[in-house]
Amino acid sequence: MRWSQVWMRRTVIVVLALAVPAFALVAFEGLVRGGNETDRPHLIERAWHAPANAAKSLKLFVSGQKISAAAGSARAGESTGNEVNLPVLVYHNVRDKEAAKPPGLRPYDITPAEFDAQMAYLEKNGYTSVSFGDLESALDGGKHLPPKPVLITLDDGRESQWQDAYPSLLRHHLTATFFVFTNAVGHDKYFTWEQLKEMQANGMDVQSHTVYHPYLTKADDATLRKEMERSKASIEKNLGTKVIAVAYPFGLHDARVDAAAKAAGYLFARTLNHVTRIGSADHMNVPGYITTGDIRNFPRILSGEK
Ligand SMILES: [Zn+2]
Repeated sequence: MRWSQVWMRRTVIVVLALAVPAFALVAFEGLVRGGNETDRPHLIERAWHAPANAAKSLKLFVSGQKISAAAGSARAGESTGNEVNLPVLVYHNVRDKEAAKPPGLRPYDITPAEFDAQMAYLEKNGYTSVSFGDLESALDGGKHLPPKPVLITLDDGRESQWQDAYPSLLRHHLTATFFVFTNAVGHDKYFTWEQLKEMQANGMDVQSHTVYHPYLTKADDATLRKEMERSKASIEKNLGTKVIAVAYPFGLHDARVDAAAKAAGYLFARTLNHVTRIGSADHMNVPGYITTGDIRNFPRILSGEK
């Protein structure tokens, strides 16, 4: 091989080595900023969901007292005035895709069989599913949650939840909160308003996951306001119910995002963490836990131990 051919080959390798990651970055950014809106949650949440162990450093402030997340001595369902012990489960896709991987390696995919096994566990062990309205009554209205409460949430409004999660919930006499981002409703592979209406008529709750599922901490003030207000108004208009909770996309928020959510009229915001104690100061930081299909971990998730 002549020297010039060697040089040419090396140049090609260097250019490819630089171009492939650059192309991947441009393609990803294209989906974030424009592209196909309905593809956003799946791709972005894989990259950006907060690590599950982030909860370890979280502190809760209740009635001026600081308690650590690990100090969970209250039994599930026990209400101490302005504080409850309530596991909040978070699910995304309920489908068999990627089922070959172990549950721990697919946090956003639980198979229909795994989901059904967890719902069966809840029913068999005497758990009662509650809503954000029930949480409000417990934190602000002095009412008690039922013994062994659980708040089941499903994000993004994907049709896989309609096909496999919804029938399983009904079968096991449980209800759940579906967080939909309203731009996706009616698109291929997402819920339609008719499906949401039917689920609502059968006890399910539909709350906001914003309009376009953006990074709220990076949105300008006007965009932030629109994401909060328009998603709430759209669900209320189409379903005729009051929207009181928003799930922050990727669980990302800060004081400005919390203030915008409050100003738009939300009473609660769900974030991502693993803490089962929820106090009056946590309205804009109700911690949900991304629950994988591993049934062996499920009791620990419910108890807040893992
Ligand atoms: Zn989402």
